[in-house]
Amino acid sequence: MPNQDEYQEILKKSWDKNWMTNRGDLVKKLETKIKSKFHIPYMIATTNGTLPIQIALKTLRLTGEIITTPFSYVATTSSIVWEGLTPVFVDIEVDTFTIDPKKIEKKITEKTSAILATHVFGNPCDVEAIEQLAKKYNLKVIYDAAHSFGVTYKDKSMFNYGDLSTCSFHATKIFHTAEGGAIFTKNEDLFNKLYYHHNFGHNGPEHFHGIGVNAKMSELQAAMGLTVWPYLETIFSRRKLLFELYQDLLATRMVFQSIREHTTYNYSYIPVVFESEEQLIKVQKVLNEHHIFPRRYFYPSLNKLPYLEYQQMPISETISERILCLPLYYDLNETQIGMICDLINKNLD
Ligand SMILES: *Cc1c(COP(=O)(O)O)cnc(C)c1O
Repeated sequence: MPNQDEYQEILKKSWDKNWMTNRGDLVKKLETKIKSKFHIPYMIATTNGTLPIQIALKTLRLTGEIITTPFSYVATTSSIVWEGLTPVFVDIEVDTFTIDPKKIEKKITEKTSAILATHVFGNPCDVEAIEQLAKKYNLKVIYDAAHSFGVTYKDKSMFNYGDLSTCSFHATKIFHTAEGGAIFTKNEDLFNKLYYHHNFGHNGPEHFHGIGVNAKMSELQAAMGLTVWPYLETIFSRRKLLFELYQDLLATRMVFQSIREHTTYNYSYIPVVFESEEQLIKVQKVLNEHHIFPRRYFYPSLNKLPYLEYQQMPISETISERILCLPLYYDLNETQIGMICDLINKNLD
């Protein structure tokens, strides 16, 4: 939580102007800051991180089948289904937890129109292999970069990869606007289309360019983001310290996610993989008894969603069953992490 007085101070500007939404000064200011920090030419701030995925699928006029990952938050898959498209899952790499590009090719059919992949816990997908496949088969690439705020791969923000990328600024994410999100692209023509779609298709107050939806970010949300903004570097470095402390203190039996080479990571999550689901459930119960609430994230594997025909995904399923994201936030202290790791290490058998 940022400082409430600082929030009020920023919000006062929208009060003074009687301007609550419809691309006010605060939204524009936040967009300018984000675009310049990540060197990305086009961005639209949105009201959450799910609508931009839906708008992306719509704007690219995708049809038929979308190759996607079973190891993500439900919004990745549900957006595909919501847009009337068919998710075709491809299993993940066992160490990075991102979609395995070696398994993509044999899932491509004449109905495939795009790849929608998630940079899992901020860890970049194999963007080069995915781009090669997309070129070869003339597919669009969308990245769900909900966790990638502040992550770079080969010195470029993750928001620069693919035809477009989306992000979430939900309260649980590393940078937040309570609810919020964004869509990023390098293509001006695509940006214009995305822009119409996010604002009812309005082309001026009385004209419509085409169909649209309402995904606008409000001034209240932007004010929250602007309040958090000055603390970003402090937040990143604090989390790095806490993340590394967890890694030092946890038993060598615990498996961590392998962060891809050439990545600057944002330390947004500390996922650990247990030897078995029974072991995870036992540890989770002990932690809960001590008022510590880790989250089974991502669980269940999305290929098991009740509204989909089951496609077997052995790696995603076994990781989902055994992965737990431990508490990680700015105000967490070293003593608390020591206690959490103690409880975990003592209850592995
Ligand atoms: C949080 C999240 C979303 C959805 O974002 P909201 O802002 O909550 O709508 C989408 N994909 C992933 C991977 C997420 O973690």
